Amino acid sequence: LPDPDVAALTSADVDVLLPRPGKESDKYRRGVLGVAAGSSRFTGAAVLAVGGALRAGAGMVRYAGPAAPVAQVRSHWPEAVVTELDRPSVDDVGRVQAWVLGPGLGTGEWAHELAARVLASAVPVLIDADGLTLVARDRSLLRRSAPVLITPHAGELARLIRADRDAIEAGRLEHVRRAAGELGVTVLLKGSTTVVAEESRPVRVNATGTPWLATGGTGDVLSGIAGALLAQGLSCYDAASCAAYVHGAAGRLAADGAPLAAADVASAIPAAVRAICGEA
Ligand code: AMP
Ligand code: MG
Repeated sequence: LPDPDVAALTSADVDVLLPRPGKESDKYRRGVLGVAAGSSRFTGAAVLAVGGALRAGAGMVRYAGPAAPVAQVRSHWPEAVVTELDRPSVDDVGRVQAWVLGPGLGTGEWAHELAARVLASAVPVLIDADGLTLVARDRSLLRRSAPVLITPHAGELARLIRADRDAIEAGRLEHVRRAAGELGVTVLLKGSTTVVAEESRPVRVNATGTPWLATGGTGDVLSGIAGALLAQGLSCYDAASCAAYVHGAAGRLAADGAPLAAADVASAIPAAVRAICGEA
């Protein structure tokens, strides 16, 4: 019997939810996303998150980080508005409607302070990767009234809810529900299938995607896509669901039965969206 608390995501669901610009749209009203990611060691995560967001329809992406990722983001994405940070603050970044926090950010004091500043804002925040390590260490970072979406893989979720990684892999639905309840946030759990949970909503299961996505950097692209959808006004639950579907579909188009690099997934996002919005 089908479980009423589980819903399989379809292309038609995503078609209905995906925002399109209207005649009167401008870049600010379409959604401005802030990206706090990257470090001198991990510059690529910043480039991939920004790229995912730009390809997923953000009106504008504002990137904030230290000198090394700033230089990389500037050269890969001239479309992004970039602020080089000499201290862990987002005061000079400008207005944003949502944040992506964490890919490649590092986990030291500087990163912790920047995370605290981003989370002190009044807009929705997506937390991924190193951002999740910071939150696992200091759960008080999650005390905020604006929405939070977290995008862990099983290992990251294990640290967050102090569970065993293998137990999570063996009972993904049960653990993703538990995490959403315990942490009071929306949870997108990555893996061979991606599941999205929020308290008192059915768990959404996404089956697009391909094992070729199991390569470095694809998670950063997913963060960018979901962040762009948050900035465009989707709820955490809908942004996470649509991002998982689009990311998986883009992965399939990019792979087409052969290896892909994470940047290829970002490049395939428009074609994936075209296929989703052209069907139905
Ligand atoms: P991360 O764990 O942050 O590197 O993100 C990896 C991305 O690739 C996530 O979107 C996963 O859902 C996806 N992924 C990883 N392994 C697989 C797999 N075996 N099949 C389908 N998607 C996968
Ligand atoms: Mg990751």
